[in-house]
Amino acid sequence: MIRANNPNLESWVAVPKDSDFPIQNLPLGIFKTDSLEPRVGVRIGDSILDLKTLHVLGYLDNLPFTLDEFDTSVLNRLMKKGKLATRRLRDRISDLLNKENTELQNNAHHVEQVLIDEAFAEVLMPIEIGDYTDFYSSREHATNVGTMFRDPNNALLPNWLHIPVGYHGRSSSVIPSGQNIYRPKGQTKPNEDQGPVFGPSKMIDFELEMAFVTFDGKPLGESITTAEAEDYIFGMVLFNDWSARDIQKWEYVPLGPFLAKNFASSISSWVVSLDALQPFCVDTPNQEPEVLDYLKFEGKKSYDIHLQVSITPESSDETIVCNSNFKYMYWNMAQQLAHHTVNGCNVRGGDLLGSGTISGPTPDSYGSMLELAWKGTKPVPMSDGTERKFIQDGDTVIMRGFCKNDKVRLGFGEVASKLLPSK
Ligand code: MN
Repeated sequence: MIRANNPNLESWVAVPKDSDFPIQNLPLGIFKTDSLEPRVGVRIGDSILDLKTLHVLGYLDNLPFTLDEFDTSVLNRLMKKGKLATRRLRDRISDLLNKENTELQNNAHHVEQVLIDEAFAEVLMPIEIGDYTDFYSSREHATNVGTMFRDPNNALLPNWLHIPVGYHGRSSSVIPSGQNIYRPKGQTKPNEDQGPVFGPSKMIDFELEMAFVTFDGKPLGESITTAEAEDYIFGMVLFNDWSARDIQKWEYVPLGPFLAKNFASSISSWVVSLDALQPFCVDTPNQEPEVLDYLKFEGKKSYDIHLQVSITPESSDETIVCNSNFKYMYWNMAQQLAHHTVNGCNVRGGDLLGSGTISGPTPDSYGSMLELAWKGTKPVPMSDGTERKFIQDGDTVIMRGFCKNDKVRLGFGEVASKLLPSK
């Protein structure tokens, strides 16, 4: 068992009830304040532990990390040290924050330097993302889309149950929570019998996803097996893969998504390690027909992560529009990584692999407006009396995710972004 996962641990740092950030989580991120340059931090309750200062004060001395790896504006340097080193770092921080441990706790002068109130910090983009890949791994989502746009009787394309279908996305427009986006413009073809038109998209959608960030993989030409996959995964974030459905519909044949997808994708700020999620492992859905050997796996490869999406219209209250769960995913992360590298493609530290839209079995668990409002035929009511088929200017979309068992609740915080009118 991973020491830092002990459900009985309690911290001397105050953690509000139902916080996503108890001592059993300890996610990594990047923050700055008015007086502190960007640096690596760990979230605990409503506070951030400053790892740069902690290292300077000598509390991280017997670990395989140098000051450079904490005195930086992205987590990539630290991630170069790999799985075992980052596990040791989390264990050490757990010890330092444990109420049974007085080492840091009893040094008020040090505590004052290393513990920052989250409200006074600005949390930044945690990773310099290299390559970004997005999958299409929720059976319910693929079935819903196939039913709406093709044939309800053959909703899944013939390859879907054999291949974790994916495409290469664009990393330059992956942005952190809190950064607003502009409604994209582009070509659409609203009328079958007329030519295309240009203008702001009229069908802006969210995609409820999660994404994982990789450690350095293997050299070009080698593959990562499903059994090895978890050693190459640093952690997970919430992921809103913004989409323009009308642009997508016109452009995607024959090569797939392009400008409908690359205008923005938002990630949550704190990277939750796979280690922290380990107590929440669950089985993935049964796979039938049997998959090819390189996609077979042993053990519990999914996680019971409750997911929620809400929309907050401009100057109005929030309405929850979706409750889903990461465990519904048909293809798991180990299979996605094994498939991604089976041809010898190399992943690198800081690559981002999106799950694809996560839809559950019931209409309230669908992970996009396209499905929730069923192609515009079932508008979704807002608490202010208005309704939505897609996202309107001024709307803020918030995604949240957390795990919970008898003893521990931990989560991802949120990824929030507001849609502004076209520039
Ligand atoms: Mn997507």
